[in-house]
Amino acid sequence: MATGQTLRELEAKNEEQYDKILKETHLTDHPSAFDNALKQFDRAAKLLKLAPNQVAVIKEPRRVTEVKLPVRMDDGSIEVFTGYRVQHNVALGPAKGGVRFHPDVDVEEVKALAFWMTYKCAVVGIPMGGGKGGVVVDPRKLSQGELERLARRYFAEMIDLFGPDKDIPAPDVNTNPQIMAWFMDTYSMHHQEFLPAVVTGKPIELGGSAGRAAATAQGMVYCVHRTVEHLGMDLSKLTVAVQGFGNAGSYAAKLLHQDGCTIQAISDIDGAFFSEQGIDPEMAIAHVKENGTLKDFEKVAKVEKMRDPMKLLELPVDLLIPAALENQVTEANAPRVQAKIIAECANGPLTPEADDILEKKKTFIIPDILCNAGGVTVSYLEWVQNRMGYYWSEERIQEDLKRIMDNAFQNVLETSLHNKVPMRTAAFIFSIQRVCHASELRGLYA
Ligand code: GLU
Repeated sequence: MATGQTLRELEAKNEEQYDKILKETHLTDHPSAFDNALKQFDRAAKLLKLAPNQVAVIKEPRRVTEVKLPVRMDDGSIEVFTGYRVQHNVALGPAKGGVRFHPDVDVEEVKALAFWMTYKCAVVGIPMGGGKGGVVVDPRKLSQGELERLARRYFAEMIDLFGPDKDIPAPDVNTNPQIMAWFMDTYSMHHQEFLPAVVTGKPIELGGSAGRAAATAQGMVYCVHRTVEHLGMDLSKLTVAVQGFGNAGSYAAKLLHQDGCTIQAISDIDGAFFSEQGIDPEMAIAHVKENGTLKDFEKVAKVEKMRDPMKLLELPVDLLIPAALENQVTEANAPRVQAKIIAECANGPLTPEADDILEKKKTFIIPDILCNAGGVTVSYLEWVQNRMGYYWSEERIQEDLKRIMDNAFQNVLETSLHNKVPMRTAAFIFSIQRVCHASELRGLYA
């Protein structure tokens, strides 16, 4: 590969200098998601023997923005929320990545999520960089009107950062097509033009793409198909546990159930539910539609409510799908994880220490930046359609998504086998080379 050649030419001459940089960057006693992300980066960068200059340019975020968002609440009071947007790297194209609404959002988390977007886009080869946003809020406590005012204020407060060629948000944890519609409307009204390409994951009626809603889970399913082939397993005999029942988790359960897998456990904020014979995901989806969460699911379905929802991660299933938040499998519980395959629908669900423990156990991990890249892939297809003003069929989208995911999986698997490194390090080796090469070709502006 051409990028490899460039990298070899630019190999670090001074390993010591590089080690010094590693030590100086963000190593604390209580690692944040960003610390963990940097550790993942370092493992690959060290094998690539990147020069300190190269590391300096592509490792840290390029722009971190924090805003205060005053919002009028329904009772007439004003509440001030905190919002972030991080643009990690824009060497390959405009920043791309979701906006998360969650009470635990902080700047380190958003930096990590933006970092993962940079390398996620590069793994699947879409011409975009990495960005991410977040608002510190529990949206379940807001009325629909309050949520709309918060969403619009968030977008308006940073309107100059966003743009179809600058930075393109999308849904993430607790955000959805309706919120994307408000973002798009705020931007379009401001510019007095219809500008749907500023946001992806929109409702179909407003320029959203066919297939976008299921895309994150669908991309994961393609990776699972390839993994099962590689390991010589039988897809229809897999038992599965899914942590998280938002967009990614619920579609993951549904699509794998359609493939004949047995979904033995699912969970969300209100608990984890188990059935050895298998859970019907359609029933769970209908329950959530009616009640907002999986609360009381054990009263309507033949399932057992688990006493400790975290134990879902330790069930003796073939396939574990973390589809919730970061840092779920750590050095504390990794020794008890029994799954043969872990497919990371969430971003950052495993810490580097957990990776090490699971590697020794020969767990096959499909890393987040590959496994959940289906979402941003169809986001990219949505952006292309918006810019053409011509819309493709569901079949066309599925065809492209499958081709892109299969190709990315193959590239990462080959890198893993060739370098004898785990899939995560392979995914970083592959994607860092792309970002690094683009960055070097562009050079410095001044
Ligand atoms: N939030 C999703 C992710 O973490 C999708 C991002 C996008 O479509 O831009 O990959």
